[in-house]
Amino acid sequence: MKYDKKSLKAEEFINHQEILDTIEYAKQHKDDKEMCLNLAKRAKDCKGLTHREAAVLLECEIPEVEDEIRRSAIAVKERLYGDRIVMFAPLYLSNYCVNGCTYCPYHHCNKSIKRKKLTQDEIRAEVIALQDMGHKRLAIESGEDPVNNPIEYILESIKTIYSIKHKNGAIRRVNVNIAATTVENYRRLKEAGIGTYILFQETYHKEDYEALHPTGPKHNYAYHTEAMDRAMEGGIDDVGIGVLFGLERYRYDFVGLLMHAEHLEAAHGVGPHTISVPRICPADDIKKEDFENAISDEIFEKIVAVIRLAVPYTGMIISTRESKRTRERVLRLGISQISGGSRTSVGGYVEEEPEEENSAQFDISDRRTLDEVVNWLLKMGYIPSFCTACYREGRTGDRFMSLCKSGQIANCCQPNALMTLKEYLMDYASEDTKKAGEALIKEQLLKIPNEKTRRIATENIEKIENGERDFRF
Ligand code: SF4
Ligand code: SF4
Repeated sequence: MKYDKKSLKAEEFINHQEILDTIEYAKQHKDDKEMCLNLAKRAKDCKGLTHREAAVLLECEIPEVEDEIRRSAIAVKERLYGDRIVMFAPLYLSNYCVNGCTYCPYHHCNKSIKRKKLTQDEIRAEVIALQDMGHKRLAIESGEDPVNNPIEYILESIKTIYSIKHKNGAIRRVNVNIAATTVENYRRLKEAGIGTYILFQETYHKEDYEALHPTGPKHNYAYHTEAMDRAMEGGIDDVGIGVLFGLERYRYDFVGLLMHAEHLEAAHGVGPHTISVPRICPADDIKKEDFENAISDEIFEKIVAVIRLAVPYTGMIISTRESKRTRERVLRLGISQISGGSRTSVGGYVEEEPEEENSAQFDISDRRTLDEVVNWLLKMGYIPSFCTACYREGRTGDRFMSLCKSGQIANCCQPNALMTLKEYLMDYASEDTKKAGEALIKEQLLKIPNEKTRRIATENIEKIENGERDFRF
């Protein structure tokens, strides 16, 4: 098998030998200070890095270079994403699963977990609870089970979610994280109006992948790895990739992840919309010590920084698996989306489940409410954004990417962030959050460079104050 990033065959675009050669290349060049410094400085131009260049930076331990990597990542983040952080919440529909993934408590052999699947009425109740918190963007999650969770169930659930209008609440974007499926099913998901299709690779190392997924359809490495190609063939042009760091040696997965991004760009003309960076964490039946490749906070931060440099236009997501402290540190380095007030159990928003009924996929480190997370972001100077405008305006796929690359998207993101934050403050915020948010909006409105946009955004914010909702650029 030879490496070919345009190929549609998993073992050619994620080529094992190319990953090994890249890791070797990184080791050979990691002490070349001049080369590493140049790479870290050059990446400030927001033109990205190849997987080989990024691997060299990840491997380099020269303090001066590591400082430069951080500085460049912060500069890229500020230039492309400003102070905005997009908020979302996961919604677990069902934890029935036929796969045997060894790192996930939903694996079908786990008899101690309580199995649950939400009915449409229960979904309604969960969505109302999420709307009452202030969420506008969800990521639905479900185990793989053709009998309990067929595609028809997922499609019906999406329809239910979009249909609920409770007080001023609305879910305006539903991203979907379900098992790899067929082109036809991806087409149906697209027709149902999904935002991003998210599927984590877990690990790109084929042998380890097969050992970690000993049974069930997910065992098929090629079918799983080629899922995004089928999704794109089915018309979904915003896809989200990720690995579960700590399952395999992180260098291998880091290189594989960037090769996957390069492949999507080369084969379909558009790279991934988002990259998620989950780390293995404890859960029912799963202990962190069982995974000897678990990575330290320092390495994790460096991974985030170098991904930011390598794929500057791809949003980066961190979940509540990470603690407040870790989240604080990686926000500056590249994270553009975070979840808030999350529950990882099925039905967990309506009712926190008793411990003996544990149906959660993983333990949450950051247990704060959405209002506490919004408050914390505001006090650090960030703009929590509930914006979902692009997908609703048809700005997806390559259209979205070209707006990003020309810098034009920032003209939409900033006012949209402020207008959606204003909605949040009016409808859901605590007094303290409202005070901090109003002050920030006032200050940030002045920073909108285009006079006309600034004027319209200011007028819309007044209209929101007077009860109108849902403005967007
Ligand atoms: S990771 Fe996904 S496919 Fe694997 S057991 Fe968990 S829910 Fe099922
Ligand atoms: S305008 Fe588009 S890119 Fe910017 S925050 Fe909104 S949805 Fe995201």
